[in-house]
Amino acid sequence: MISVDVRAVSKTFGGEPAVNDVSFTVTRGDLVVLLGPSGCGKSTMLRMIAGLDAPTSGAVMIEGGDVRGLTGAARGVAMVFQSYALFPHLTVADNITFGLSVRGIAKAEQARRLDEITALLGLGPLLQRKPAQLSGGQQQRVALGRALIAQAPVCLLDEPLSNLDAQLRQELRREIRALQQRLGITMIYVTHDQTEAMSMADRVVLMKGGRIEQNGRPADLYQRPASLFAARFIGSAPMNFLDLDDGPQGATAVIAGTAGPALFAASGRGRVLGLRPEDVTVETAANRARFRSAVTAVEYLGGEALVTCVIAGRPIVARTRGDAALAVGTEVGLAWDEAAGHVFDANTGQRLALATFDAAASVQRHAIANQGVP
Ligand code: ATP
Repeated sequence: MISVDVRAVSKTFGGEPAVNDVSFTVTRGDLVVLLGPSGCGKSTMLRMIAGLDAPTSGAVMIEGGDVRGLTGAARGVAMVFQSYALFPHLTVADNITFGLSVRGIAKAEQARRLDEITALLGLGPLLQRKPAQLSGGQQQRVALGRALIAQAPVCLLDEPLSNLDAQLRQELRREIRALQQRLGITMIYVTHDQTEAMSMADRVVLMKGGRIEQNGRPADLYQRPASLFAARFIGSAPMNFLDLDDGPQGATAVIAGTAGPALFAASGRGRVLGLRPEDVTVETAANRARFRSAVTAVEYLGGEALVTCVIAGRPIVARTRGDAALAVGTEVGLAWDEAAGHVFDANTGQRLALATFDAAASVQRHAIANQGVP
């Protein structure tokens, strides 16, 4: 059942498009993240769903009805703002129930819902405090409580965790996700943080320059990024890229003056190969892999380490076990499965399907051969 249906929505400010022909749907009970870099139009899109801004063209449907001209409450949405927007002179309890009072909901019903939300969010000891007497995480919970108590079918959150430190962000994103799933709330959540998006979302709508770049499950975006932009934006550490050209036996990495080894049996000209760090293996018995490089940097992260080498003048990061104990300068072999590679058109940035390559392309291990130490 579709709860929110955004149909060909555009919004221009002074002739400049902030949101450009955007369409997506949100299934009831799902958490959809609008993800993208600063200025890509995420907040503008959310504000149009909330009823705070009107689309220049297109329509927003909520629970099957066109909500044009309706207020947020009338369209059945509640919103949590980045700034929390709590009333400083009201107690936590009054902040949470404020919207219910405005809507004339009976005191007994207000008290019942407040008890429920207080227990859900662990706000009991804080109810009589003012916002200034709360930590950032506590203020965030109050803002969430104020949105949840409305029992609106759709809850909209605009970068709700961006004012908090890393550890609290991690805790609260788990809490919000658990709460959203337990209560079956339809949520649209705006963030520029891909980790937040990947860890919370049922679906991610990745935006760039006012348009949708890719719309899919987190695993779709990670495993099959639709474009170079999506491939770069999703993943930490980021994907590695090698510019390709045509060699004698197929696509090869571009190396000034020399043809590198074949990476797959198809044309490489005008294409870019993408490799996730976990798909690149580092072999210390360098003769086992045909591709060699010296380690130029090691970032130790505890359970894992990011080992940087160089291929065709480009840094290639491999994810290894943290206890691999490789030192800078060690000569290693690099390898990956051909099937793990992502291939993109260098001009359009679009992903190229392997099916479009020569049928002869075999799934073999490849490594950079005989390049020596850069
Ligand atoms: P951020 O993560 O920085 O909040 P965003 O992806 O949410 O970015 P928006 O706030 O939606 O981006 O802005 C999209 C574009 O629209 C930007 O270029 C912005 O400058 C412009 N814009 C947003 N609101 C207005 C406005 N009220 N008047 C004029 N231009 C605006």
